[in-house]
Amino acid sequence: MVEYMLLWIVCGIGAAAIAARQKAEMISTGSDESIRKCPYCAEQILKEARVCKHCG
Ligand SMILES: [Zn+2]
Repeated sequence: MVEYMLLWIVCGIGAAAIAARQKAEMISTGSDESIRKCPYCAEQILKEARVCKHCG
């Protein structure tokens, strides 16, 4: 019985750590996949954009 409780606690910590890491990755990479960084002015622009609205 104690073993099961320990197992659940370990699983909970592991799941929380994975969720936190995924959240951090989403923030660092940008949650919206259609947005990327302009190589010229480093502004966030649409992935589809051919001409940057910031540096033209
Ligand atoms: Zn630009």
